[in-house]
Amino acid sequence: ETSLYVVPTPIGNMEDITLRAIRILNEVNIILAEDTRNTVHLLKHLQIQKPLQSYHAFNEHQTVHSLVKRMENGEKMALVSDAGTPTISDPGFLLVRACLQHQLKVECLPGPTAFVPALVKSGLPADKFVFEGFLPQKKGRQTRLEFLSTEERTMIFYESPHRLLKTLEQFNQYFGPERQASVSRELTKVFEETVNGSILEIITYYSEKTIKGEIVIVVEGQK
Ligand code: SAM
Repeated sequence: ETSLYVVPTPIGNMEDITLRAIRILNEVNIILAEDTRNTVHLLKHLQIQKPLQSYHAFNEHQTVHSLVKRMENGEKMALVSDAGTPTISDPGFLLVRACLQHQLKVECLPGPTAFVPALVKSGLPADKFVFEGFLPQKKGRQTRLEFLSTEERTMIFYESPHRLLKTLEQFNQYFGPERQASVSRELTKVFEETVNGSILEIITYYSEKTIKGEIVIVVEGQK
């Protein structure tokens, strides 16, 4: 009786797909994908043939209503994103909410998401933490950092490689150079790397390098 399955997919290493995820992807009527081209590769790898429909952030509002109608008529759907868990810094929240509002059952399979391994590998307290996702790029960025400067829990940020140094410089400014932090790059991939240290040490490490790949930054809370 489940209408919507939220299905996490690998964040790099293709082995990180669960047996249940494979079964569900095989059983649903249709797979809703953030980017169908990416999901085609995954399905090919898993030897699954299923109709795909794109589910971009920008067409969410228009699409949600018609998807809910189809689920009410008995169609079962799986929601996937390009990598990791849908709705975590990715589209999907509006669809989940609409399903719940229409008494359609939603299940979320546990599975890959980038922030969990990054938090664990940081060695920073993982009993209480805040997930900040991407900081605002322009408007609201300073305000957010100011707000977070007194946060006592471990903080987790998603960042792109070309903004890493700029963001670390701002962390230096708002959290201070001594604050412990951790940068995880390319998790589960061949060139996986985690650098732990003070914000200043991490800035020094990365200022001599060309920075590539996907990145999670973890910062210690204020003591
Ligand atoms: N839904 C995804 C999840 O569950 O983690 C996040 C999607 S978000 C659009 C993409 C960001 O996640 C990247 O910019 C990076 O910050 C982080 N990310 C995804 N895969 C990663 C990886 N293999 N290593 C490090 N960070 C990763």
